[in-house]
Amino acid sequence: MTKNSGKEYLNNLNANLIKAAGHIGLDPWLVDYITEAERELHVKFPVKMDDGNVQLFNAFRVQDSTARGPAKGGIRYHWNVNQYEVKALAKDMTYKCALMGIPLGGGKGGIICDPKGDPNNPNGTGKPMSECELERMTRTYTRSIAQIIGPLRDVPAPDMNTTPQIMDWLMDEYSKIISEETGQPFKKIYGVVTGKPVGRGGSLGRGRATARGMFFTLREAAKDLGIDMYGSTQVVQGFGNAGMNYAKFVFDEFQSKLIAVSDSKGGIYCATGLDPYEVEEWKNDAIKNPNKSVLNFPGSTNITNVDDLMSIQCDVLAPAALEGVLTNITTPKINTKIVVEGANGATTNEADEIMYQRGIYRIPGILANGGGVTVSCFEWQQNLAEESWSEDEVDQKLEKHMVDAYRAAKDAETKYNISPGDAVYVASVDRVAKAIEKRL
Ligand code: NAD
Repeated sequence: MTKNSGKEYLNNLNANLIKAAGHIGLDPWLVDYITEAERELHVKFPVKMDDGNVQLFNAFRVQDSTARGPAKGGIRYHWNVNQYEVKALAKDMTYKCALMGIPLGGGKGGIICDPKGDPNNPNGTGKPMSECELERMTRTYTRSIAQIIGPLRDVPAPDMNTTPQIMDWLMDEYSKIISEETGQPFKKIYGVVTGKPVGRGGSLGRGRATARGMFFTLREAAKDLGIDMYGSTQVVQGFGNAGMNYAKFVFDEFQSKLIAVSDSKGGIYCATGLDPYEVEEWKNDAIKNPNKSVLNFPGSTNITNVDDLMSIQCDVLAPAALEGVLTNITTPKINTKIVVEGANGATTNEADEIMYQRGIYRIPGILANGGGVTVSCFEWQQNLAEESWSEDEVDQKLEKHMVDAYRAAKDAETKYNISPGDAVYVASVDRVAKAIEKRL
């Protein structure tokens, strides 16, 4: 994402909030307040690299809102991350958590760094950071933001290029700082961060939570629209955590026909349907398929990721890879009844309007992919209560949150006669505004 696209993302989100505020008649001071972040921290710190040189890193932590509970949101490690992007992502979290009905606010963090030695980085060396460098950088970043995070203040999580191992270092360093400050013996403070490995404070059910949530919202929307999902045709962009698991859910639960999927290298099409389990095996088979891509899957035809994939006639299109793929250019060409968004920010505001006019039902990302943060909230709640829930319990609670969130958005859609893209903000802004007013 470029500096400008971070700004554009933020401007789009603020436009959505202002529109929603107009529908519900928010006071002007509330509109001013919610279109800014509550707190923004920009830190700079040195880290000794393996070759003995010292590198300076710029990093951020933004707390968009703590009105409904501690700020919640991931930490992104990327050479192109910037303050606008972090602010936009933090804002997205505020309204997603509110819509999902979980007692958390919105936050996000980022370090400008190049952990993978990305060849697209114009200032990079192409060399990945070592495990030791990543650990030293993570621990120093934790010290730089320690004053504003904590289980009851702000709870980070993984995001792009940040793993459960990185969350474990963050939790360990934070626990050390608290022990140093209080003089108490060292005790792991699991609740300071989510996305930890299962067995080290992580929750069962987190891995497939985003996809499961997409499935539940699709099921509810299809019921309301009177569209039978049994045997429905599905097109999925992005065959990673969200997209692949979503493809498996609809394949198993609806006996859907998965007619096209794609990843960063391209897409595949098969009119009679692909088995997502076999496609997964193919993608991971380093001997038969050194490409590590869905491309060339036996029995399928290779297609392009946007022009071909997006225009295939299907019942459901699931963008589950990138931001900004449904635009005023691509959206007129889509040929589907429902769009269910695994990706954040998949649809621009103009594209939302085009879908509404064309009668394509959109389930926006802040609703459809809210299952991920909901189970992160469950992880945090289990940590605070020193409990460990079974996967069944997690799944049942998740289903209730997804169905309630869908219903809240649907009620707003009906009440104000607005698009689903506007309705998710009306429902969530109302909740955030009420929480702010209660604290006056
Ligand atoms: P992932 O890294 O597991 O998978 C991403 C997939 O997208 C990969 O298969 C990758 O090859 C593919 N991809 C990358 N560039 C592509 C392109 N140009 N065209 C098509 N495919 C491309 O990531 P994920 O966790 O599945 O996340 C996907 C999206 O869902 C992101 O926008 C993320 O922010 C959002 N999301 C994920 C979660 C979660 O819990 N995983 C939660 C909320 C939102």
